[in-house]
Formats: sequence, structure tokens, C-alpha cells
Amino acid sequence: MDVKILLKESDIPKTWYNVVADMKYAPAAVLHPGTGKPVGPDDLSPLFPMPLIEQEVSAQREIPIPEEVRRIYALWRPTPMCRALRLEAAIGTKSKIYYKYEGVSPAGSHKPNTAIPQAYYNKMAGRKRIATETGAGQWGSAMALGGSFFGLDVKVYMVNVSYNQKPYRRMYMEAYGAQVVASPSRDTNAGRGILAESPDSPGSLGIAISEAVEDAATRPDTSYALGSVLNHVCLHQTVIGIEAKEQMKIAGDYPDVVIGCCGGGSNLSGIGFPFLRDKFDGKRDPRIVAVEPASCPTLTKGIYAYDFGDTAKLTPLIKMYTLGHDFVPPGIHAGGLRYHGNSALISQLYHEKLLEGQAYGQIAVFQSALTFAKAEGLLPAPESSHAIHAAIVEARRADEEGKRKTILFNLSGHGYFDLAAYDDFINGRLADHEHPAEKIQEALDRLPKVEV
Ligand SMILES: *Cc1c(COP(=O)(O)O)cnc(C)c1O
Repeated sequence: MDVKILLKESDIPKTWYNVVADMKYAPAAVLHPGTGKPVGPDDLSPLFPMPLIEQEVSAQREIPIPEEVRRIYALWRPTPMCRALRLEAAIGTKSKIYYKYEGVSPAGSHKPNTAIPQAYYNKMAGRKRIATETGAGQWGSAMALGGSFFGLDVKVYMVNVSYNQKPYRRMYMEAYGAQVVASPSRDTNAGRGILAESPDSPGSLGIAISEAVEDAATRPDTSYALGSVLNHVCLHQTVIGIEAKEQMKIAGDYPDVVIGCCGGGSNLSGIGFPFLRDKFDGKRDPRIVAVEPASCPTLTKGIYAYDFGDTAKLTPLIKMYTLGHDFVPPGIHAGGLRYHGNSALISQLYHEKLLEGQAYGQIAVFQSALTFAKAEGLLPAPESSHAIHAAIVEARRADEEGKRKTILFNLSGHGYFDLAAYDDFINGRLADHEHPAEKIQEALDRLPKVEV
């Protein structure tokens, strides 16, 4: 029985899989924040280059991956899949646990899978500069890397708590030539507005997005780039699941359940959509599970409604699961999962019950992270550890029910920049924050009123 299931460089996918082609209903229209009317390509062109806008609205099933992008992917792709034999032994399960490991990318997570094509298409379209936000720092790192490969300047608005918790992420981005500021910052109207009201704001992804969008919208040489949520981002991440299906074939196995942590939904899309395709084709019936933090339970406790993607209400309105655009989640350590909304595609598929959702507190998640690290040798990102925890829960439940399951999860990144979080956990400084129902209600009362 092989621990590691490897593919060859020539096995790097040649196309991305667009789930929209197989969805029962077309994705809900994205609405203009001012007029409430559906946005067209021209509304988006100040923010994104045309090839990305075309991918955003495409219903074509297979979208070719440019050769130049595949050559850069080859620096770390195909990524390994491992059978977690030592984890199975450590928890004493009869189930089989596999994980796909995206932490081998230069930036240490799945995010370069989209940062590279985004930088490529911006370069081709003649843009010179990219403004973006980062929660935990992984997306900013990936975009800094992408910008450096294609000679683009990158400005990163980094959520204030992460800026303070993770100085090495900032230094990493700066090493690749990016400019990084703590958000809310004094560099934008959105940032100055928040600082005037709460000078100690911990920041949030919603605030940082407002800043980056304002930056890009006010400079013709600058594009905005988002590391998750949008359809083209979810599309780029499908290289993960396409490879994983090949690797499962080599292992002579097929997952009963496919698990991904879920912040904006891109890595779950990446591992999950190609397996969902088998369900659409009527070939197989895997369960696909989104795992989120109990402190930011977008799918499991939010509502499905039109909302802004950011706090300052600059972005188009997206129909998604949301906790409200002005929701500021507690400063938990899985910064990449602290987003009030979710991908429109993930939201719609969840609403149609093609995906499941689970939420866990960070203490249980860190316990599982260390169980995994001691067994498998890799220190996981706190975000990814939500998927690990769900896989362990799944395996234990199967044991109790006397079943033997095949479980696959996406290990979306490593945790070598998250040692302060591990230090807090080991020394008992972490707390669980259950998100209070009345706070959700308050934020939801402020949802935009739209007639559709
Ligand atoms: C950003 C990030 C996530 C969460 O983002 P999704 O878009 O939901 O995938 C998960 N894991 C890691 C390691 C990340 O960097």
C-alpha cells in the first residue's frame, strides 16, 4: 500500500473544470450596487482584465489552461496525495483517510493556483499594478509571487489582526516586492472612514476588500484581484480535484466523502467540483463537505440573500450565504476563514443540498491539527485543520456505526507561518467563540433590500 500517490508533470491538467456547465440552474445574477440591475462585463472592466471577466460569466465546461501558466504550475504541481496511514493508526479508525497536499506550493497554500493565472491575464491585458487584500496573509503571499513572476506591482491591504499576528507573512510578501499596509489603512477613503469610528479596529476581510477595490477603481493602471469567492477563482482551483481524481484511480479507490475547509469557498470548489461532476454525470455519489469555524459560520448559520462582498458597499451584490457585510468576526487564528460571505457557486450548490456544511470551534480544531502533525509530520495551516478535524470526526462516526469509509480531504496549506497560533493553543490562550444568534440577526437586518 503506497503512502504517496504521485502524478507526472505531463499529468498537470490542460483545462479547468467549470461547474456552471453542469448546474441545474444558471447562477443568480450579480447586481450593480448602485442601480440594483445585473452587472455586465463593462461594469467590471475597471477592476478585472477581460479574459477573467469572460471566465467569471462563462458556462463552458472545460476552459483551457494557458501553457505559460502550466509551466509555472509545474514548479509545484502535480501536488502529492497521501494515504494518512499513520493518522488512521493514531486515531484507531478502520476508515481510509487520504489527503491532497497543496502546501507544497511556493507560498504554502492552494492560492497560487489562481494567483498565477490572474497575474498572467493581467499582464496580457497590459495592466501594470494589482491591488488586493489578504486575511491571514496566504493570498497576499500568492499574489506577491504571481506579481513577481509577471513583473506587476502588487499592493496588499492586510487585515490588521493578521498584520500584527503574522509579521513573517508581511516580510514574505515584501521579499517578493509587494507593498503591504495594515487594513483599515489611511491610504483609502474606506479605511479612513472606519478608523475615524474605531481607531483600534481589528479589520476584516470585508474592510480590506473595500480598500483594495477603491484603490483599483481609482487608478486606470491597476486591477483588483480576489483570492477566493469569485467564479473564476473557484474555476482555477479545480486543478486540485482533477488531479485528485486521477490519484484516487491510481490508488484503486473512490471517496465516500470529500472535505474542504471553507472561507470564501475556493479550495472546497477546487477539491470538490470535479467530484461533484461525477455526481452530475450519475456515475458516483460522493458527499462533499464544507467546514467552517463556529465563530464565522457563514453556510451553517447565515442566510441565503443578496449582500455586498465588502463592508463599504463598493462591490456588486452577490447572492450568497452571508452573516452581513458589516460583520466583524472575532480574531480567531484561522484568518483565511474569517469572511462574512461565501462563493456564489458554493452558496447555490449548498442551497440545493449538493454540498453539506459543518462548523467547529478552534480548540477542537487545533487538537486535531496536532494529532495530524504528530502522525503525518506536517504542521497544517489552522484553516486546513478544520478539514482535518472534520475528517477525524467522520472516521470516528463511521467506526461507531460499524462502517468503513473512504475519506478525502484537502490539506490546503502548511502552518509554518502560524506558529504564534500554535503557541497560543499549547499555552492555553485560545478560546472558542460561538457566534451569538442575536448578532447575526442584527447584521442581517442591515442586508441591502433588493427586488429580484
Ligand atoms: C485562504 C485559505 C483558505 C480559505 O479560503 P477558501 O477560499 O475557502 O479556500 C483555506 N486554507 C488555506 C491554507 C488558505 O490559505
